[in-house]
Amino acid sequence: MKEVYDSFSVAEMPEAITVLLVDDQPMVAEAIRRMLEDEPMITFHYCSDSKKAIDMAVEVSPTTILQDLVMPDIDGMTLLRFYRNHPQIKDTPVIVLSSKEEPKDKSEAFSNGASDYLVKLPDQIELIARIQAHSRSYVAQRQRDHAFRELHQLQKELEESNIELERLSSIDGLTGIPNRRSFDEYLAKEWGRSVREENSLSLLLIDIDFFKKYNDGYGHQGGDDCLRKVATELANTMRRSSDMVARYGGEEFAVVLPNTDIDGAVVIAEELRSAVEMLALEHEFSDVAEFVTISLGAAGIPPQSGEDSASLISLADEALYEAKAEGRNRCCRAKQDVAD
Ligand code: GH3
Ligand code: MG
Ligand code: MG
Repeated sequence: MKEVYDSFSVAEMPEAITVLLVDDQPMVAEAIRRMLEDEPMITFHYCSDSKKAIDMAVEVSPTTILQDLVMPDIDGMTLLRFYRNHPQIKDTPVIVLSSKEEPKDKSEAFSNGASDYLVKLPDQIELIARIQAHSRSYVAQRQRDHAFRELHQLQKELEESNIELERLSSIDGLTGIPNRRSFDEYLAKEWGRSVREENSLSLLLIDIDFFKKYNDGYGHQGGDDCLRKVATELANTMRRSSDMVARYGGEEFAVVLPNTDIDGAVVIAEELRSAVEMLALEHEFSDVAEFVTISLGAAGIPPQSGEDSASLISLADEALYEAKAEGRNRCCRAKQDVAD
């Protein structure tokens, strides 16, 4: 028997057993101590004062409590209820050591949360076997709880790093083309360059026509496939390496066209519109065509005009709205007051 309580955790030493005997009779304590003293894995603690039992149980973290029933101050049945309501002790196995073999006492002890019931003084072999069985299942349960909490924590951390990774990533997960974040960065960079170099810069905003109906008719998975195909087609249709097609949001795309004025942008818009139509992706729920089509808004205010890139976006957005209103599957050019 180990004489000194070490502060190792049960997870580190799964075989270690810590017994706390709560009994007001030192004679009983001495007898139990002798029964356990040849067991190298058992550490024995003794508490003779029922008022100190809870504190001591918290301090030594027993893997099994041996609990006397008849005690001055607080009796064993009351202590059992205290144990079961204490966050740190509620699952600790409690073997009741009673001087009586009364069915009424047994029944009350079990209904108060006792794990086992032995009549004093128990047989040594039986006592050790029961302490071992209860301690092992308690330690195993604690290890499972610990592993579960760790797994839960790891899952949380993984989710957080995935979100962070997505945020840091420049590629849209669904379509494989640059995402909104890349678009924002690229537009800001090209806007600055166009101001410095006095070049033109244009923007297209693109929206798939009747895409809600497409989703409703072909399912969300079908919708996702369609988004991938349209995105790939838009990206493949661009010719200059400086042109950037990005996923702007849901079923909307944006194209940044450096060194391109509004007339050039409208030509490219028509090429993109026609390329998507030529894909001939069946859309039997569209009101404008048999196939998937797109509407586009083109804007191209000169960056030197004193406006900012947000104005370019809102002009392209207004033009897109007009393309929708005029019947879809078309491109509209922004009504710009600023001279190109
Ligand atoms: P309009 O011709 O006026 O553009 O009509 P619409 O139905 O295309 O426009 P609306 O904005 O009403 O619907 C857009 C739909 O796009 C609704 C939304 O469920 C769907 N959507 C947005 N993002 C995704 C996505 O990532 N995957 C799928 N499958 N659908 C998406
Ligand atoms: Mg939309
Ligand atoms: Mg749409």
